[in-house]
Amino acid sequence: MFKIILAEKAGFCFGVKRAMAIAEKTAKFNSNKPTYTFGPLIHNPQAVSYLESMEVRPIHSLNDVKPGKLIVRSHGLPPQIITEAKEKGFEIIDATCPFVRRTQDFAKTLLNENYEVVLIGEADHPEVIGIAGHTNGKAIIIENESDLKKLTGKMRIGIVSQTTQSLENFKNLVMKIRKIGNEVKIYNTICRETQKRQKSALMLAKKADIMFIIGSKNSANTTHLAQLSQQTGKPTYHIEKFSEISPEWLKGKKIIGISAGASTPSYVIKDVITYLKSINNKISGPRGPRLLHKEEVFNG
Ligand code: SF4
Repeated sequence: MFKIILAEKAGFCFGVKRAMAIAEKTAKFNSNKPTYTFGPLIHNPQAVSYLESMEVRPIHSLNDVKPGKLIVRSHGLPPQIITEAKEKGFEIIDATCPFVRRTQDFAKTLLNENYEVVLIGEADHPEVIGIAGHTNGKAIIIENESDLKKLTGKMRIGIVSQTTQSLENFKNLVMKIRKIGNEVKIYNTICRETQKRQKSALMLAKKADIMFIIGSKNSANTTHLAQLSQQTGKPTYHIEKFSEISPEWLKGKKIIGISAGASTPSYVIKDVITYLKSINNKISGPRGPRLLHKEEVFNG
């Protein structure tokens, strides 16, 4: 018999809940205009299917479709794309997360103050592409130490971060960049929701025998949670749904830890817990496992 513990902070964050609510409201009050999101609204296939059932469809190019309502997802967009969309006749519904907007604004301000803008993040992530767009593409994107060669010495450097970066990676790169620039201004723009999820996943991984991190393989923040958990040395599985779990993995385990990325809907988390409970029932009888932090599961 094992215990199942859900991390204190797991699943949908403020920005994702807000974007979903905006998309649902737009779908509900639609005025015969087709409704699109630029890219999937969030990095979760189940949530994208749910929105498609409400006729909100992801597009990847403004040229693919006739103009309609265009929802800007929580990751934001480069201003150049928004301008182009307006010129083509799209109505913009802006669901950019306020924390991402704040990062875009900091990046723009640093550029205007003549700093070389350094953006710590993944070059191909839509949020990073959007923030870089607010510097007219001038931001230097640093993902890891090997990218530091892009920086030459004696520069005035202004740093911002992708909101879902791991704090550890951010701190490590900032320390190294401080040795390169002769003036370095730093905005830690990792959002609190991300930090809380990372902290609670790490705490849980330390006491669990095995960890499940639930969320899309495309989700940056879910991937970082899985990496953090792995660093504790505990077996960690990044899964998208319950059916990926092999009962073999649970043999001899006493504490099963669960966390989920900011774009993972609560019912996907519930499905995993229900499945684990069913396995435990087979081992221990119908009373099943103890589930801690119930409110995280049933109120989501
Ligand atoms: S992780 Fe933070 S910045 Fe990203 S959408 Fe959620 S609240 Fe906004």
